[in-house]
Order: sequence, then structure tokens, then C-alpha cells
Amino acid sequence: MKVKAAKKTKDHSKTSDYAAALLNDHYPPTYCCVCGYQGSTRFDTDDHFRKLHKGNRAFKCMHEPCSQAFTSRPGLQYHLTMAHTIEKQNGKIVITSWKGKANSVEKELDENLAQQLASHYDLLTCPKCYSKFSNKTKTKDHIVASHNKEKIFKCFVDNCSHDEGFASFLGLVYHLAKYHAAS
Ligand SMILES: [Zn+2]
Ligand SMILES: [Zn+2]
Ligand SMILES: [Zn+2]
Ligand SMILES: [Zn+2]
Repeated sequence: MKVKAAKKTKDHSKTSDYAAALLNDHYPPTYCCVCGYQGSTRFDTDDHFRKLHKGNRAFKCMHEPCSQAFTSRPGLQYHLTMAHTIEKQNGKIVITSWKGKANSVEKELDENLAQQLASHYDLLTCPKCYSKFSNKTKTKDHIVASHNKEKIFKCFVDNCSHDEGFASFLGLVYHLAKYHAAS
């Protein structure tokens, strides 16, 4: 496993700048993303949020497969900085990769979970409209194109408190690994 010489420390401040910009873009500082309250300053809105929505995980990570949510802007900003690689591409700030377990996570599921997963979700069939595809990528493209942002992957574990579902297969996999992996 060769890793390109990391220039992480140097890029770190840039990453947090980008994270802040991304955050401002998705969650304008004076706008309450829960109720739409428009404060006069960001402090006003922070204050409002603390008083009315304390503990509300309203700040969701913008990176689709990640689906982590936080109760504060700084919480999400920290997460973005630590868990993701953020770059500027053609003048646009984008999340380019996930430092989390995105690639290895499926291997971390124990056999039992992996089997249940496979029995619930066939990667060649759309779980929403049951269209069939010849490969995984086509299924994924179809889901993005036809059911974009719909949370069509539901957790199948009994008594799971997360009944909202996930927009991507990976989101569900990540959830399973994090919450239901046998310890
Ligand atoms: Zn509010
Ligand atoms: Zn994230
Ligand atoms: Zn479909
Ligand atoms: Zn679950």
C-alpha cells in the first residue's frame, strides 16, 4: 500500500477554509436551517438555535455516503475538516474524498450482517422501482438520476433507531458497520 507523500499538515488550513466556505454555502450563518428563522447576525442565529433547537442534529454532512449529522455548525465543520478531503475544482469547492472507511467498510461488516445486507439489497436491482441492471455502476447511476436524494436504502436491523433510510448503498453499509457490527 503506497501512499503519496502526504502534504496534509500544509493543506490543513486550506481544508478548514474550504470547510467553512462549504458550510456557509449550505448553512448560511444567519439562517436557521430548522425553522427558517433569519437572524440579524450569526450570533443572534446561534443563540436562537441553542434556545429552540438544542440537540437537533440539523447539520448534515454534505457528502452523500457519509450521512453524519451534527448539532452545531462547528461540529460539522470539524467533521468536514477531519473526515473529508476538500478541494477547489474549477472555482467550486467540492468534497473529493472521504478519509473514513468508505472503501474498506464492507469488509468490516461481520459475515452475518454482510449476508443480511446481500439478501435485502441486490446491487443489480434498484430497491425503489426494481429495475434491473447489468452492473453496479449502472444501478448507482440510475438511482442518482431517478431517485436522487430519496432515502431508499433502509436499515433492516430490528429495533434500529434510524428509520429514515439512506440515499446510497454505501451510506447504509457505513451505518451497519458503525451501529450494528458485533463487538
Ligand atoms: Zn430555528
Ligand atoms: Zn461527512
Ligand atoms: Zn429505480
Ligand atoms: Zn440500523
